[in-house]
Amino acid sequence: MVVPGNGSHNSKIMFIGEAPGSIENETGLPFSGKSGTLLGNLLQQIGLVRQDVFITNLVKCRPPMNRNPSAKEIKSCLNFLLSQIAILKPTLIVTLGNVPLSALLPKESISKSHGKLKHWRGVDLLPFYHPAAALYNPKLKPVLKKDFDTLSQIIKKSITNI
Ligand code: URA
Repeated sequence: MVVPGNGSHNSKIMFIGEAPGSIENETGLPFSGKSGTLLGNLLQQIGLVRQDVFITNLVKCRPPMNRNPSAKEIKSCLNFLLSQIAILKPTLIVTLGNVPLSALLPKESISKSHGKLKHWRGVDLLPFYHPAAALYNPKLKPVLKKDFDTLSQIIKKSITNI
């Protein structure tokens, strides 16, 4: 199933994950499995709910066997994502994991740039580890939590109306 994205069309914040997994392939909604539960909890921690933001993925269909999206899949879905960004006009993009980060900013790597504000085509971009990475490696959970606190500070400073 195609999983285009979900949330507020008026939000200034867009979260971009990697690709739908098996649960998302059933529900049609991004981040509706275990990673999504963690994402929802992290949003809640900073006083937000999913419907306050727009959540999508770089790749819109589940890669078979949960493998990483191929370069060809990324290339063919990227234009769709660029159109979503052009239509929804977020002022802050939060990338989840290395795959969407490298698609937009190929020179950045997640381990060095997570939690640090970057810029992409005039839009603020904040790279985060993927919630699934924190589920596999519990050491990353406090890192992700801290990066969400950074998001909260940026919102307070520069986004008056989410
Ligand atoms: N992982 C993603 O990157 N996106 C989803 O929608 C679910 C899991």
